[in-house]
Amino acid sequence: MAIRENPRPLSIVHELVHALDDKRNWYIKPKGGSKISAEALAYGTEYLLEAVVAFKQVEEATTALEAMDAWGDAWYIMQSILENQYVWMGSKKKRKIKPSDIKDVEVKLGLRFKCVELRNDYEEYLREKGICLPTCLPCNLEYRDDPRLRLDPVFGADP
Ligand SMILES: [Zn+2]
Repeated sequence: MAIRENPRPLSIVHELVHALDDKRNWYIKPKGGSKISAEALAYGTEYLLEAVVAFKQVEEATTALEAMDAWGDAWYIMQSILENQYVWMGSKKKRKIKPSDIKDVEVKLGLRFKCVELRNDYEEYLREKGICLPTCLPCNLEYRDDPRLRLDPVFGADP
């Protein structure tokens, strides 16, 4: 375990995931264990926790339109993990984060972000704030900027 001189905000979480990996014998310790899988688990956790802050905008919405926009934006940011984030080994980019890495975070650490499950909680939260949505919060999201970018099933998109 090593914390750099200028740590990222979630470096402690990253190293904590490695410590847990080591203790549970997932990837670090076993003979033939995979260092890239260990890094994917640690980086995947880090990226999810960074991205989830975007849901704060849904909580702070004061109108249905703001809530619907913030919901779409939050999932766009979650999906962007798979499009734009990498697994690093030291200072070298090894590969992009994959849906299987996000699934591994869920399986190993129980950290789970499923659109179809979270929408019930957010709809109830918004209803209690007096915000009445015109439709359900969608999970079959397509994005204005890039219609090819769709919410991956790993985040619980509708099939
Ligand atoms: Zn690491």
